[in-house]
Amino acid sequence: MSGSRPPTTPSRTDRIAARAEFVTSAAAVADLPAGFPEVALVGRSNVGKSSLINALAGRAIARTSATPGKTRLLNVYRVVPRQGQGGRAFHLVDLPGYGYTRVPPPGHGRQARGGAHRSPSGDGGPSAEGDFRALAAAYAGARWADGRDEVPEAAALLLVDARHPGLENDLAAYDWLASLGCPAAVVATKLDKLTRAERPRARLALETAFHGPVVPTSAATGEGLKDLWRLIDRLLSRQPPKLPPRHPS
Ligand code: GDP
Repeated sequence: MSGSRPPTTPSRTDRIAARAEFVTSAAAVADLPAGFPEVALVGRSNVGKSSLINALAGRAIARTSATPGKTRLLNVYRVVPRQGQGGRAFHLVDLPGYGYTRVPPPGHGRQARGGAHRSPSGDGGPSAEGDFRALAAAYAGARWADGRDEVPEAAALLLVDARHPGLENDLAAYDWLASLGCPAAVVATKLDKLTRAERPRARLALETAFHGPVVPTSAATGEGLKDLWRLIDRLLSRQPPKLPPRHPS
């Protein structure tokens, strides 16, 4: 016997879950628990944020919904990675989904590109949009403005639907995160909704739209979760990736 074992299939390995639990729902950034590194999840309503949180956790700790735009709070989950998933415990902070009129939030000193953006799907609703704008701006001010010290590190993951590269409001959210200069990366969701044949083209379209690497994932099949763990680890490292501007000045 050689003693070597057949390689574990990627989807099986990817499915190894962290220890994770719901911590709190905060109505304001000031109410967020301090002391842990944070990864904020940014994305359109219904993009699959809750499902991805549950996939990382290996169980349902976030409420998923076929009805978008329901989250009005900052939901916080504590994740304790297992071996091979990176080192330290961190908090996932689920920002309200956007998807209606204006993205990203204005202010925070630096320019918010954009102005009015029509929703591609009509989801969310004006109040959902307002919640995103207000909470995202407050979050950015607390975590990425000069002088913040509430948390050791804070990074953002921009979630986009693998089937819809370059939606206007996703690009606006990208530009907002790029302008903040915070640790951030783009993750595509719902990969399983594309056929194998469609995937390479979709990935190229995503990476062209966002001017850089995009990690494709599926909460349904577990594909890409291992890469996502690696990405989160890098985002919380000393030299985290950032989003390059799409329009260098
Ligand atoms: P959120 O609003 O961003 O939190 O989105 P949810 O996680 O609630 O997901 C919205 C809808 O998309 C739900 O019906 C999910 O079942 C579905 N969904 C989310 N992720 C996936 C995925 O990876 N694959 C598939 N096929 N459906 C997904």
